[in-house]
Amino acid sequence: MSALLNGRTAVVTGASRGIGLSISRSLAECGVRVAMLARGKDELQQRAAEIGSDAIPIVCDVGAAEAVDEVTRELHTLFGGAPSILVNNAGLFRVAPVEHTTADDFIRTLEVNLIAPFLLVRAFMAEMKSRGSGHVVNIGSIADRAIFPDNSAYSASKFGVRALTATLRAELRGTGVRVTLVSPGPVDTPLWDQIAPDGREGFTPRSAMLGADSVAAAVLYALTQPAEVDVEEIRLGRS
Ligand code: NAD
Repeated sequence: MSALLNGRTAVVTGASRGIGLSISRSLAECGVRVAMLARGKDELQQRAAEIGSDAIPIVCDVGAAEAVDEVTRELHTLFGGAPSILVNNAGLFRVAPVEHTTADDFIRTLEVNLIAPFLLVRAFMAEMKSRGSGHVVNIGSIADRAIFPDNSAYSASKFGVRALTATLRAELRGTGVRVTLVSPGPVDTPLWDQIAPDGREGFTPRSAMLGADSVAAAVLYALTQPAEVDVEEIRLGRS
């Protein structure tokens, strides 16, 4: 795997912890220069330093359109153009019934989970197409197909990510640019700290969740298939 990706460049959003951190680490281990985007400066810088010089921490709130505009200019300068790989991973997960979901929470969830991937793809797509190569990996969720109560904002965003991914695939066929949706079931990451799922009805206990490294392995699988293969969708559940 390492040889196949060595020397490439990648952008990973939500890279300071959880799944994004595992993906960033795995890519760097394969010789990929990885721009790690996240909000919290100290945690991000610390995690990137642990990975090594191939990991470049960039503080950015991907839920803010102006910040995404600014960071895409910075990334173009850093890599001398669009990256070879874009992993749209940053995500918010808030659990509440519709009547207790504020408009701000609903909008913010869509901004981070759905609009940010759209803005980042849009920023790099023309160049990937003219280059005839590139790979976009969008992190979906079991909730991009399955419906759960108290999940309106998250589900709406993840159904949207699946639709965005499928639309991109239809537009990109034959261009050499590939797009993959990776949709895990529950993964034991800090995302669950606020929710405290253990013993809570309807939730998977943390000990029965997937590990973040398993999601990173699925992303690497998609990225390392022969150029003629488009890994359209990977759905991960616990065995
Ligand atoms: P996490 O909460 O552990 O980490 C989220 C990361 O996203 C952090 O680095 C955080 O700084 C970053 N982030 C959040 N908002 C951001 C913003 N506005 N701008 C930039 N960075 C931002 O979450 P995770 O569990 O690692 O989830 C990663 C992705 O995987 C999300 O898209 C999530 O929906 C998806 N997912 C998670 C699970 C799960 O059970 N953990 C299951 C399926 C899908």
